[in-house]
Amino acid sequence: MNSSETVTLSRNVHLPLLGFGTYLIEDQDVADIVRHAVETGYRHVDTAEAYNNEAGVGQGIRAAISDLGMDREDMFVTTKLWPGNPAWGNPVKGHAEVLASFEASLKRLEMDYVDLYMIHAPFAAERRVEQWEALIELKERGSARSIGVSNFSKAHLEELERAGLPLPDVNQIELHPWSQKPDLVGFLKEKGIQPIAYSSLVPLSTWRSKEGEHSAKTDDMVEAGTKSDSPFKEMASRYGVTEAQVLLRWAVQQQYAVLPKSTSPERIKTNADVFSFEISYEDMQAIRGMDRGDGVAWAVGDPTQVI
Ligand code: NAP
Repeated sequence: MNSSETVTLSRNVHLPLLGFGTYLIEDQDVADIVRHAVETGYRHVDTAEAYNNEAGVGQGIRAAISDLGMDREDMFVTTKLWPGNPAWGNPVKGHAEVLASFEASLKRLEMDYVDLYMIHAPFAAERRVEQWEALIELKERGSARSIGVSNFSKAHLEELERAGLPLPDVNQIELHPWSQKPDLVGFLKEKGIQPIAYSSLVPLSTWRSKEGEHSAKTDDMVEAGTKSDSPFKEMASRYGVTEAQVLLRWAVQQQYAVLPKSTSPERIKTNADVFSFEISYEDMQAIRGMDRGDGVAWAVGDPTQVI
């Protein structure tokens, strides 16, 4: 299986389009699952300070590297700064606290650099620029090979631009046929910012269907995913793949990186097989008409909408 297609970020950093997501995987379970994912072919793993599982993620990556006789350089590891959020009574981090959070993440991962460090969401309002300056410093030091943001809108990115700062290498946002964000994606393209798609599998009835897996997905959306004649089921049967593969292929075919998360070995395997078929122009056009607007992965609503 070829699961190694990459896009090139600044400083010749290669981002594998296929990544493995780890949100909602407990720290005590994640090492074995990540190890399995890497052994299946994933070379890019996504975690965050806020997922409380960086220690297990680091352990799983090290175990797989050793099993497969690989080097750390063969893996692409992302973690994210929790910026704080005054709206949740959560103190906002300043420059020194950002650097301290980064060091704490490296320590939990037991790594001496990450391939990508990003601001998890634009919640820091008047300190967003200060946080971004701290990430620029980490990139200059080489302890973050590339830097990015997540859930930033065009306005949030323009704020960094107005401050005269280099723009992020990537913006990780919720992107799938029901939340296509054409204006934001067009702006990213224009500025050379690589999109990374999260929650690609939202249209599936099985997406976050376990007790306590919160989101803003509506009953109407859940029902649409269960219909036996859903367009993704129809396409999946025509291409001889799963619905999840259709959703992931839709993204990688547009050069968006993807981060499918699963705890099931079978799903981990099929989700990685997204480079062996192509969605036709007609089907891509049909999917273009399915956009429903904002994302639903965050129970509080799409964070690109915060001011
Ligand atoms: P996702 O990867 O789109 O979907 C995961 C859900 O779909 C789980 O409930 C999983 O259940 C199920 N699933 C996985 N493969 C399947 C398949 N082949 N068939 C049917 N169901 C399948 O969702 P996500 O975790 O929200 O997003 C992916 C990653 O993006 C996260 O893990 C995280 O790393 C990142 N993310 C970032 C942000 C951000 O704000 N930056 C927000 C959300 C997510 P099982 O586990 O039971 O298989």
